[in-house]
Amino acid sequence: MNKIIELDKKHDLIDKIKNKIAYIQDHPKISELRTKLYKIEQAEKMYIKQLELLKQAIITLENNLKNKEEELKKIDEDLYSGLIKDIKLLENIKNKEMNLQESKEQIEQELIENMDVVENLNIKIQKCKTKCDELKQIIENSNQKINEKLDEYTKKLYINLEQIEKFRSEINNENLTKYYNIRKRYKNALVKVENNICGGCNVELFMNKISKLDNDEIIECENCGRLMYK
Ligand SMILES: [Zn+2]
Repeated sequence: MNKIIELDKKHDLIDKIKNKIAYIQDHPKISELRTKLYKIEQAEKMYIKQLELLKQAIITLENNLKNKEEELKKIDEDLYSGLIKDIKLLENIKNKEMNLQESKEQIEQELIENMDVVENLNIKIQKCKTKCDELKQIIENSNQKINEKLDEYTKKLYINLEQIEKFRSEINNENLTKYYNIRKRYKNALVKVENNICGGCNVELFMNKISKLDNDEIIECENCGRLMYK
């Protein structure tokens, strides 16, 4: 009968190993790291997109600047050619020149500001890349450790499963069926009796039961149905 106690212990052990395997397969630290990595990768993508848009904007601004400069050059040629004698016309051209000069400076200012943003974005992208590489390395190392642990637990699991098979073959079928039926209901199908009290439901045993236990028998609790030993 004591084989059932050993079988029960093995089952508990196997449950523990299975829990450990389930836990490390879905390790909270790894999912946390993956979430972090995903967020940083998304941020990096966003910065890269912003950078691309900004570069396009800069090209447009540079073209605008070039046009303004050409226009300005033309106006200056007209203005200082000495050919235009009409004062009003000259004033008009001068105003135009001033306006052009102003918008040229505005574009230049905008370009400088955009260049600063480009620099900042490049720094941010670089930081993201470094952080992503770090995280990937940490995840890889952790995965390696997890796989080693998984191998170890899986081996343990198989060894214990084999031992369970051995115990099963040594226990008579009636007791085995009884044990497994109770195990379907309770995780602790087999309990120890202490102070004449069932370790599963805490109800006191009858005297005739106690004497059986004293003979190293395994009996059922009349209250909860669990198997008991002393
Ligand atoms: Zn009981």
